[in-house]
This record gives sequence, structure tokens and C-alpha cells, in this order.
Amino acid sequence: MSQKVDPELTAKIEKFGKGTWNECFHCGNCTAICPLTEQGFLFPRKGYRAIQMGLKDTIAGSVEPWLCYYCGDCSKTCPRNANPGETMMVLRRYLTSVYDWTGLARRIYTSKMFEIGAIVFIAIAVLLLYVSFTFFPSGEGNWIGQDGGVLINKIAPWKRIHLGDWIMAGTLAFILISNVFNMWLKIIFKDKSVKIPFTAYITEVFDFAWNFITQKRFNKCDGTKTYWFLHLFLMLSYVVLFTMIVFFLEWFQTDTVHPIWHPQRLLGYIATVGLFVGIIYFINNRIKKAKENSKYSHYTDWTFLVLLFLTTLTGIMLHFFRISGMPVATYVTYLIHLMCLVPMLTIEVPFSKWSHLAYRPVAVYFANLKKAAYKKNLVK
Ligand code: SF4
Ligand code: SF4
Repeated sequence: MSQKVDPELTAKIEKFGKGTWNECFHCGNCTAICPLTEQGFLFPRKGYRAIQMGLKDTIAGSVEPWLCYYCGDCSKTCPRNANPGETMMVLRRYLTSVYDWTGLARRIYTSKMFEIGAIVFIAIAVLLLYVSFTFFPSGEGNWIGQDGGVLINKIAPWKRIHLGDWIMAGTLAFILISNVFNMWLKIIFKDKSVKIPFTAYITEVFDFAWNFITQKRFNKCDGTKTYWFLHLFLMLSYVVLFTMIVFFLEWFQTDTVHPIWHPQRLLGYIATVGLFVGIIYFINNRIKKAKENSKYSHYTDWTFLVLLFLTTLTGIMLHFFRISGMPVATYVTYLIHLMCLVPMLTIEVPFSKWSHLAYRPVAVYFANLKKAAYKKNLVK
């Protein structure tokens, strides 16, 4: 495949994080040690070569950065301290911006002020919406129950919140799906070296779903079992809570306080534990810089963790105030919770850190499609 060399490529990618492109002298240690690299998908050394040569299209169409789970083994053994594990991370940020047609991922990943400004802007918009749509139209002033209890559906009727959820979820889905399509164009469609058998698109769906649910590839890395488990627990907890809020809010946001063994409470508690334990573990890792994959933190790693932490903390406080029958504290906390949750979802899911929840399993799916072509020798 002929392609134009971009002499500015290293400078462009450096904006997405620590750049150590020139230290690499291509000994190949990192690729040899990586537990996830395999025939047809060799990394991380190949990524360095493409960056150093300015092969922008090769990088844009590479699936390999998403196949890396950042165990850090390669960084420990690099004789040049080039930190190949972090390089894969930087490439994932860069690729997120390459797929994103809105241009917002690039702005968020390359400007701290832009990201903070976007978070504040959305939080203020949520505040204004909450005040205008929840207080005024239903402002009968009867937000406090006869027994002095909480009437959350009076101050923030679930139908209105639900409508907002659907608008937000629809917008996020549209952006993510269109970006995944862009990813497919670059990784599969433009790669004329293989011909993907159509049946593979169907047969590989099961593995795609299984990989999404279990993240089994990550488990192949040595010494990362705790990390894998907590990452998985956090991810599944997030998916459970997101599903309950977006699809079953009427069931989830009730004025009735159910007994503790009620499925609504139990599911909420398990998912909250998953989120909280995971967040504390990852924050602790980043503060202590104890593990290879948390020695270097980009500012977007922190904004994501802080937003997720605040969302979870205010969610716990909200629940506590509600079941304790403290109306004013509940309503104020609900507003603060939404001011953390909505920026977290609208910024992190489609444009920043959380987008790997979609891109990584899709990338594994695309790699499997290519493997199916290799198996059938459909190589040009
Ligand atoms: S181990 Fe280090 S120097 Fe060797 S190829 Fe990998 S990144 Fe380059
Ligand atoms: S960080 Fe781990 S999974 Fe990623 S390239 Fe290095 S050795 Fe492979």
C-alpha cells in the first residue's frame, strides 16, 4: 500500500501523551515478551517503526494498540526505557481522535483547559435544566411527604429524567456507532491485503460478546489477575447501573423504600461496591505509581477517575439521604449527582477514556475477522 509520509506525525502524536519515539532502536524485546502479540498482529515494536517513518495511514488503520491491555511487561524489559506500554496507551488516545469525526476527542485529549471547560459547561447546563424542568413546572411545593419523607419523583419526576436519559443515550450511541464505522473503514475496508469472508462477521459475534463480558484476553497477561478482576468488576458494575438508569428508571427511582433484600437495592449495592472498590484501587495505583501501567498518568486519566468517583460518592450519599428520609439533603445531592454523572457520560464515553469500552472489543472483533481471512488464505 503506497501512502504519503507525514513528517509531522511524531509531533502530532506527542500531543496525546508522553512521546519516546526516538529511544527505540528496534531490538524487538518488547514484542518477544508481550503475552498478547501473535502472528499477523505484532506489537508494540511495529508501532514505533510506523511512527518514526511518519506512516500516518498505517497507524490510523492499525488494530494492534487496542489489542494491548497495558500489563507493562514490555516497558519493564525495554533496554532503552522507551516505555512501549505507555506508547500503546498514547496511540489509543490518538486513534480515538482519528475515529472521532466531531473533532472533540482531539480537543479533549490535547487541551486540559478544553476538557475542564467542557465539564463545567455541561454541569452548569444540567443545573439550569434541573432547576427549570424539575422545580418550576412541578412547583407545587409539596416535595416533602406528609410523614416528612422524600418525594423524589415530585421534585425530579422519573419521566422527565428518563426523557433526558434517552436523548443523551441516543446521542452517545449515534456518535459512538458512527465512530466505530469510521474505525471499520480504516482497519478493515481500506486494508486491501485481506479479504474478510462475509460469514466471519456472523461467526465472530459470539467471541465479540464473550470478550466484552469477560475481557478474557486481559487475563492472559501474567501477574495481572487482581487488576483484571477489578477492572472487569468495575466495568460490569458500570454497565449494570447504566442499564438500570437508562432503561429501567421507573423501577430504579422510586419514592418507596424497599426492604434491603429487594432486587432493586441488592443490584444497586453490588454494582456500587464494584464501582467503588475499582475506583479506589485505580486511584491508589496512580497515586503510588506502583504498577508499570500507572507510573505515567495523563490528565484525562485523572478527570475520568475523579468524575467516576464523585458520581459514585454522590450516588451513595443520595441513597443514604433518601432511605433516611432527609428530603432537602436528597434533592440537593441528586442535583450534584447529575452534575457529575452527565459530564462523565457525555465526555468520557464517546470522546475520552471510557470510549475504550467500545473500541477495544470491536478491535478484537476486527482482528478476529482478519484471522478468519488468514485461516482461509484470503490474503492478497
Ligand atoms: S524493547 Fe524498547 S528498544 Fe526494543 S524494540 Fe521495544 S521499544 Fe524498541
Ligand atoms: S503493555 Fe503488555 S500487553 Fe501491552 S504491548 Fe506491552 S507487554 Fe504487550
